[in-house]
Amino acid sequence: MTKKIAIYPGSFDPITNGHIDLIKRASKLFDEVIIGITQNSKKSAFLDIKDRIQLSQEILKDIDNVKVLSFNTLLVDFAQAQNAQVILRGLRAVSDFEYEFQLSGMNKHLNSNIETLFMTPAEQYANISSSLVREILSLGGDISLFVPKPVEALLKKRL
Ligand code: ADP
Repeated sequence: MTKKIAIYPGSFDPITNGHIDLIKRASKLFDEVIIGITQNSKKSAFLDIKDRIQLSQEILKDIDNVKVLSFNTLLVDFAQAQNAQVILRGLRAVSDFEYEFQLSGMNKHLNSNIETLFMTPAEQYANISSSLVREILSLGGDISLFVPKPVEALLKKRL
């Protein structure tokens, strides 16, 4: 039987408890989940790509069917190269919807064999975003509820 493989793409700048919740739940639905970290998104990154890969690998090392890769090609081309049938995205609120709808429509146009699936976070993670974590950190706030310890430590080091 064909392995069911999902790509979970994003900038993961940094990976948060919201991402991790989604990855854990997805790992029970698919044979393999590949975290695809974007190298050149239009946002300029706070953490460099090496940091983002290393943190995600460290945090997800106990989930056997999850692996972390980076890519700088079209998402659908990356998914195809990894033999993935599914692109996973998270939907937190209505505000995510418009952009995600556009993105999934465009990806379907580019490769109709790859399906985008959306997952919603557990309630306690619904308000967490990487950008808010960076903002709170830069203003001296407590981010320990939103990211794992190694992420907090590295963010503070890079500040
Ligand atoms: P991008 O820069 O592509 O938006 P992110 O790293 O910010 O990448 O997020 C990757 C995916 O995870 C996106 O689909 C985003 O909506 C989703 N996501 C981010 N934070 C959460 C969260 N707290 N709960 C569920 N999904 C989330």
